[in-house]
Amino acid sequence: MHGSCLCGLVAFEAVPDRHVIACHCSQCRKQSGHFWAATFAWHKDFRLIRAEGLRWYDASDKARRGFCGGCGAFLFWQPVGEDRISIAGGAFDGETGLHVGESWHNEDAGDYYSPAGSALPNAGPLVPLLQGSCLCRANRFTMPGPMGAVTACHCHACRKTSGHYAASFPVTPEAITWHARQVDGYKDSMGNRRGFCPTCGSKLYVQDAAGGFQLAAAAVDNPTGGHLARHVYVAEKGDYHDLTDGLPQYPAGAGG
Ligand SMILES: [Zn+2]
Ligand SMILES: [Zn+2]
Ligand SMILES: [Zn+2]
Repeated sequence: MHGSCLCGLVAFEAVPDRHVIACHCSQCRKQSGHFWAATFAWHKDFRLIRAEGLRWYDASDKARRGFCGGCGAFLFWQPVGEDRISIAGGAFDGETGLHVGESWHNEDAGDYYSPAGSALPNAGPLVPLLQGSCLCRANRFTMPGPMGAVTACHCHACRKTSGHYAASFPVTPEAITWHARQVDGYKDSMGNRRGFCPTCGSKLYVQDAAGGFQLAAAAVDNPTGGHLARHVYVAEKGDYHDLTDGLPQYPAGAGG
């Protein structure tokens, strides 16, 4: 199976050896912008075709996390001293024939969605101040809360960069107070500028061509006062997972 990041500076071939595992740990959440989902391949069944963009972030002494420095795509997780590599479901091109078989670290999930796949009530706790950061903490910010309605996006670009699918909420950029800021951006084919941390690859925001600004939901630490409200661009959704939360689904944008 062939896979790649959004900008093409990382590409690979792999023969996956397992179903997909959804991971809600805080590290996968920060890097993906929502939560991650990955299969794995043994090293003998894995080959990098292009690696110019590949950067590794040593999140702990147990594993390193691979992302593309060109577009911010979160692609790989590699345990130290083992001969296997985890690969994002969203990184694969075309049909995968895979399915999500397990869900890990549900206790670390964001409070704006249910890792079990059910919908949350629309009114969350009143959270007047949101605190956020990237995984390496080179980015730290505060802003007025609550998070409110969160949109999940399954478009090709969000799938590639998150490694699964994206979740974000609209903000005015001026409302964010950055206490530390280190952001790289990638302009996708739709003209959206996708901001990510160049050190750890965490997803931070998407600034669309029309001037809208969406902050990655997982950049905000709990409590958020947010709730997942809809799924958009489901026509481009990965084939390896189902949406079971009963929320409205739109084939393209929420407008049509
Ligand atoms: Zn890339
Ligand atoms: Zn960072
Ligand atoms: Zn999208």
